Amino acid sequence: MSLLALSKIAWVLGVISWFVLRLPFERKARRMKVQDARHRTAREMALLSISTLGLGVIPAVYAATGFPGALSYAPAPAQVVAGVAVFLAALWLFWRTHTALGRYWSVTLEIKDRHELITSGVYAKVRHPMYSAFFLWALAQALLLPNLLAGLSGLVGFGTLFFFRVGREEKMMREAFGAKYDAYMARTKRIIPGIY
Ligand code: SAH
Repeated sequence: MSLLALSKIAWVLGVISWFVLRLPFERKARRMKVQDARHRTAREMALLSISTLGLGVIPAVYAATGFPGALSYAPAPAQVVAGVAVFLAALWLFWRTHTALGRYWSVTLEIKDRHELITSGVYAKVRHPMYSAFFLWALAQALLLPNLLAGLSGLVGFGTLFFFRVGREEKMMREAFGAKYDAYMARTKRIIPGIY
């Protein structure tokens, strides 16, 4: 089997693992009553679509068909090995964030009934560890898919969601948790411990 085929398979397995890993948490979170869904707007849906396009649709089309062929290049073995390692790190972090956040997790921005602020586990290191995990996934995609469009679409797609959402999410959390969230913000960074 070619290195290209192997790295495409690694990407597919990574995405499937992420999906399976999320299933039980999704079921748990769905049982929670939502208290504040004001932030679940058309804008949020558009951002989610852009992210899905970049992390899912565009790379899937490339993996299946090789399109757009003109933007492909020969993969280096070290690049594929690094891609697998980064995807594994992303999956580990997804698992830790879901375990810590439990029922308070949601796809869009919302506050649940009796929502509690989580500041332990990986949430003690950064405020948005799940978004860190998505960036790691996007980085793994760039390493595993040797195509300029399909490789970089994840970083662009998720990056768009992140930068247009994170400020609003923090505003929503400050409204819900007040001084507690201010204090949490004062002692943590967003996605990279100690840096950003
Ligand atoms: N931004 C976080 C969570 C993503 S899930 C991360 O990257 O890890 C999005 C939902 O998580 C939001 O709707 C919000 O209600 C909830 N949330 C975000 N940070 C939280 C925290 N520290 N404690 C509890 N819930 C949180």
